[in-house]
Amino acid sequence: METFQGIGAADGIAIGAAVCISTRIGDIYQIPLPSTEIDAEIARFQQAVESSRQEIGRLRDRVGTELGDELAGIFDAQALVLSDSSFLEGVHEHIRREHVNAEWALQETVGEIQARFDEIDSQHLRDRQEDLRHVCRYVIRSLRGIHLHQLSEVQGDVVIVADDLSPSDAVRLGRENVIGFVIEHGSPTSHTTIIARSLNLPLVLGVGGISHKLADQVEMPILVDGTAGSVVLHPDARTIESYRQRRRERQLEEQRLLAASELPPVTLDGTEIQVMANIDLPEELDDVRRYAAAGIGLYRSEFLYIERSPELPSEEEHLAIYRKMIEAAAPNPAIIRTYDLGGRKIAREVMETQENNPVLGLRGIRLTLARPDIFLTQLRALIRATVYGDLWIMLPLVTIPEEILEFRRVAEGVMEQLEREELPFRRDFKLGIMVEVPAAALITDILARYVDFFSIGTNDLIQYALAVDRSNEHVADLYRPLHPGMLRMLRLIVRNAAEAGIEVSICGEMAADARMTAVLLGCGLRRLSVSPRRVPTIKRRVRELSVEKLEEMAETCSNLATAVEVNEYLRAQLGESVENATA
Ligand code: PEP
Ligand code: MG
Repeated sequence: METFQGIGAADGIAIGAAVCISTRIGDIYQIPLPSTEIDAEIARFQQAVESSRQEIGRLRDRVGTELGDELAGIFDAQALVLSDSSFLEGVHEHIRREHVNAEWALQETVGEIQARFDEIDSQHLRDRQEDLRHVCRYVIRSLRGIHLHQLSEVQGDVVIVADDLSPSDAVRLGRENVIGFVIEHGSPTSHTTIIARSLNLPLVLGVGGISHKLADQVEMPILVDGTAGSVVLHPDARTIESYRQRRRERQLEEQRLLAASELPPVTLDGTEIQVMANIDLPEELDDVRRYAAAGIGLYRSEFLYIERSPELPSEEEHLAIYRKMIEAAAPNPAIIRTYDLGGRKIAREVMETQENNPVLGLRGIRLTLARPDIFLTQLRALIRATVYGDLWIMLPLVTIPEEILEFRRVAEGVMEQLEREELPFRRDFKLGIMVEVPAAALITDILARYVDFFSIGTNDLIQYALAVDRSNEHVADLYRPLHPGMLRMLRLIVRNAAEAGIEVSICGEMAADARMTAVLLGCGLRRLSVSPRRVPTIKRRVRELSVEKLEEMAETCSNLATAVEVNEYLRAQLGESVENATA
C-alpha cells in the first residue's frame, strides 16, 4: 500500500483500477493496449492514413484549381510521405513492439525521423520536416474521428492516472467506464477540473511522479479521494472500508443539503441572493431543477463543440440543446455564452496555427469573430432559440467595445437573414459580456453602455490580473482570489454596473467556494453562478450571513496589503477560515 497526497479538486471517492496514460506533445496520450488489440490498432492507423491521403488529395485539387499547380505541388510532397512504406512500417513496428496506441506510435516515429534530420543541415530536409509535421497532424485528426478503443478492454471501474489531461479528453474519458482522475499537473480552476466536477467524478491534482510508479503496471488497484486530495495504491481491506464509510457519510450530508435546497437563499437581514447554475455538459441539465438553481448563469457552449470534434455541430443540434437549456432554466433566464474556444480549450478544426502563448492569443470572442464561418452556425441557432424563453447571450473575453459592436453587426445580419427565411426569433434578447480581462474590468463604466449585463469570470480575471496561469501548478499558490487588487476590481465592476442600471453576476469558481460568499456579498454581488451541485452549499452559506456589515468589511479588505491579511481579517470578523481556496 502506498499513499500520495495531492490537491483535492473535484469531490467524491473512487475505488477502481488505475490505467496510466501519459502525454508528451499537447494532448497525445500513451495508452497501453492488450496484445489482442494490436492488429486492430494497426488497421485503425491504416484507415486514418487512407482518409488523410484523401483529404490531402481533395485539398490539392482545390488549390490546383484556385491557385495553380505550382502551389498544389506542396500537397503532392505531403501525400508522398503517406505512401512511404518505411515510414508507415516504422509506426506499425512501434505499435507491435510497445503495445501502444497509433497516435503515440506515430508521434514517436515522427520524433525519431526528426531527430535524424536535425543532425543534417539542409534546407531540403527542413522542408521535408515541415511536410512530416503537417502529415502527422492530418493523421492524428483522422485517428480522432475513428473510435478509440483504449478503455474498452479494461474491465470494471477505471481511474485515469495521467501527467496531464486536456478538457476534451476528460469529457471523452469521463463518459466511458472512468470513475475518477489523478493528474500530476493542473490546478483547481483549470477546465479539466471543471469538467471532472461537471461529470461528478473525483479528481486529485498535483501528485508528482505517480505516473512513473504505474508505468509498467496494468490495472493496479487504486483509491482516490477527491475531497481530501489523497490517492492510495494497492489499498488494503481496512483502508477500503474506511473510505467506503467516509463516502457513506458524505452522501448523507449531501442528502441533508439537498433537502434544504428548496429554502430561499435569503440572508439573515432579508437580502435575496440568486444562486444560478454553471452548465458545461448536457447531462447536468436535470441538476438545475434538482438543486433548485435560479436559472443558468453560464452555459459553456464550447463543450458542445469539443464533444463533437472533429465534426462540427449543426445549426439544428445547437438549437436543440439551447432549447433544453432555456426550458431547464425557466422561468429564470438561461445565459448562454458563445464559443470560448482557443487558449487551453483546443479547437483543432478552428485553429490553423499553433500559438506560443495561446492563453493570451486567439481565444474567446477574438476567435469567433475571426472565424465567422463557424460562428454563424452558432449565432443563427442562438437567435432562433430566443423564441423558447428567456435567453441571454454572453460574449467571452471581451476587451474592447469594438468587439461588442462587431458582434451586434454580425447578429443584425443574421436577423435579416432569418427574416428573409421567415424563421421566427425575438429581437429583444439580452446581450452581455464576461468581465474577465483586467482592462475590461477597469472600463466597465464604458462597456456598460453597450450591453445589458456583466458576468464576472474570476477564473480568468485572476489569471490575467495576477499574471498567474490558472493551469500551472508551479504558481498555484500565487493564484489568490482574495488579493486586494481582485477585491478592488470586483467592487468597481459591481459599482459601475449598478450606476449604469445593468445586471451583474459572478460565474468563476470563486463563487462556488462557500468561504468566499461573505466577501462576494460584501463586494455587492447578489447573483452567483456555480456548478449545480454547489448550489445547496452556497444557499446554506447565504442563509447564515447578514449583509449589513459585509460591505464595510469588503471595503476594509480591499485596503489591506495582501491576501494573507485579508484572510486573517475575515477570519477575525467571521470567526472561521477563508483560506486561499477556490474548490
Ligand atoms: C471564468 O473565466 O471565470 C469563467 C467562468 O470562464 P471559463 O472558466 O470557462 O474560462
Ligand atoms: Mg473565462
